[in-house]
Amino acid sequence: MTLPGQLNPPPRLLLGPGPSDAHPRVLAAMSTPLLGHLDPNFLELMLETQELIRLAYQTKNPLTFPISATGMAGMEACIVNLIEPGDRMVICFKGFFGQRMIDVAGRTGAQLTILEKTWGDVFDLNEIRETLQKVRPKVLGIVHAETSTGAWQPIEELGKLCHEFGTLLLVDAVTSLGCIPLNVDAWEIDAVYSCTQKGLGCPPGLSPISLSPRAEEAMAKRKTKVQSWYLDLTMIRTYWGSDRAYHHTAPISMIYALREGLRIVHEEGLDNRWKRHFRNHQAIKAGLLALGLTYTAKEGHQLPQLNAVRIPAGVDDLVIRKRMLNEFGIEIGGGLGDLKGKAWRIGLMGYNSKPSAVFQLLAALELCLRGAGVAVQPGAGVAAAEAVYLA
Ligand SMILES: *Cc1c(COP(=O)(O)O)cnc(C)c1O
Repeated sequence: MTLPGQLNPPPRLLLGPGPSDAHPRVLAAMSTPLLGHLDPNFLELMLETQELIRLAYQTKNPLTFPISATGMAGMEACIVNLIEPGDRMVICFKGFFGQRMIDVAGRTGAQLTILEKTWGDVFDLNEIRETLQKVRPKVLGIVHAETSTGAWQPIEELGKLCHEFGTLLLVDAVTSLGCIPLNVDAWEIDAVYSCTQKGLGCPPGLSPISLSPRAEEAMAKRKTKVQSWYLDLTMIRTYWGSDRAYHHTAPISMIYALREGLRIVHEEGLDNRWKRHFRNHQAIKAGLLALGLTYTAKEGHQLPQLNAVRIPAGVDDLVIRKRMLNEFGIEIGGGLGDLKGKAWRIGLMGYNSKPSAVFQLLAALELCLRGAGVAVQPGAGVAAAEAVYLA
């Protein structure tokens, strides 16, 4: 065979549901030389990384570290370590990732109770209370930022509610960490997982997780072994704890990346970071509405970092997304599940939540929409976003 050429990826602006662009400082950190995974210098970096994760989650949980795989592995790790066959679990299902949770939990032999909502909706605490009272589950699982619909689920009071019934709260924060407020200790969250490639400005590859002392207690009471060897936290914690026992070789460069990504998060400050995401969301939202698009999630529950909008009638999803990619180097996401072919998902996450991305997206999308015959006032999207920034 002729050897494939040297790697030369085309320039892209990744404004889909993830991955989003990595911060240049993160990419630089990843290209520094490897250390051994038991090197005292690396062990120091691990401790620092754990502390930075705790700071980002706003938690003191000792059991906090990254799982060596993507967000889905964080989901699976939390579920298989908390659930034994026959345990009752309630899952709040209102989009694609809630469905994933059902699939993962179903395989553990959990007795599932599913609370269902139309895609794009969010749950009200009272609806959940009734089910908790009736079922008294060991765990309740919910997605904080449902990336498939762009809906922002309020969870501030949910931990307290779960604890009234002796239930542990499991939260999917894959698209929320680094983008919107998340306060693990104050909100009494017992198990939380995220990823590196959405809000933290890193490549995909790690899933930072954190489990509360309550969750640790539940794990200590297990009668059966965790069904997954690789994701068994009782073993992984011996490497991330003081024993430093070998479990699997840590993905060194990814830990460098996460450490640098989190350093950038904390240099900016969590509050500033959330404000930045909100401001750029207001601008892109004004622009998208001016282009005649409407959000799939309800007013008041729209995620700043994931703008999901309905595709106008008569417009071909793929034609537009291909044009955005090929002519402008901009990636946006299509719809998932119930919204397949019906929605675009525009991410402004982490490093990519910035005015330059907002303007590029709005200008390019306007051209594509007009090209597809949609009546749009020329410059309307850009002008509306500009008005937000100038206000
Ligand atoms: C992206 C995503 C996941 C899956 O994460 P991967 O890194 O793709 O494995 C899980 N939950 C939500 C809400 C997500 O947006």
